[in-house]
Amino acid sequence: MTIILFGPPGSGKGTQSILIAQKYNLKHISTGDILRKEMEMNSELGIAARSFIQQGKLVPDEIIINMLMEVIKCLDTNLKGVLLDGFPRTVAQAEALEKNLALNNSKTDLVFELQVNHKELTDRMLLRGIATGRVDDNLETIINRLQVYTDQTLPVKIFYQQLNCFVSVQGVGEIDEIFNNICLQIDKQFKKNQ
Ligand code: AMP
Repeated sequence: MTIILFGPPGSGKGTQSILIAQKYNLKHISTGDILRKEMEMNSELGIAARSFIQQGKLVPDEIIINMLMEVIKCLDTNLKGVLLDGFPRTVAQAEALEKNLALNNSKTDLVFELQVNHKELTDRMLLRGIATGRVDDNLETIINRLQVYTDQTLPVKIFYQQLNCFVSVQGVGEIDEIFNNICLQIDKQFKKNQ
């Protein structure tokens, strides 16, 4: 099973991913979390990623795709699948992912878009910045990240809409309510496939 949580920065992908991965026994892969760990360790990858992240830009596709492929290669085979959070963020990344899945006669099952308006996203990220000290949760970088999302990431929506696996859900409201809505869609999809 491959599920993608898609949506602008601050839309709650991380929060929902943890809940979904736990319920369906999926490996939660957050490219943002991996990059932040690499930055903390001052690894070669972390150093390469830092300036992009600080400016609210995307880390180049080649770096991200190689990083993700390495993670997928080392997965525990007992897991039911993966839940991707923050990947793919460009059409090139989506194409690379689907090409890799196709090697195992597989494909992405579902892509959930969390819909949240810009005002709410900005407020959430500013609060998170105060709570966590995340280097990219400041107003200037948030504005860049939202623009990058519109320019470079939104085309991924069309890519998956054409593959008929794209579902939009309301991302504003109670966490449990949003989660239950996502679970209903996952259960429906897997009943259909059984
Ligand atoms: P996130 O925690 O998912 O919001 O990611 C934080 C930052 O990491 C992003 O603003 C990007 O700079 C970088 N990043 C995370 N995932 C990707 C990706 N799939 N492609 C390019 N850059 C990424």
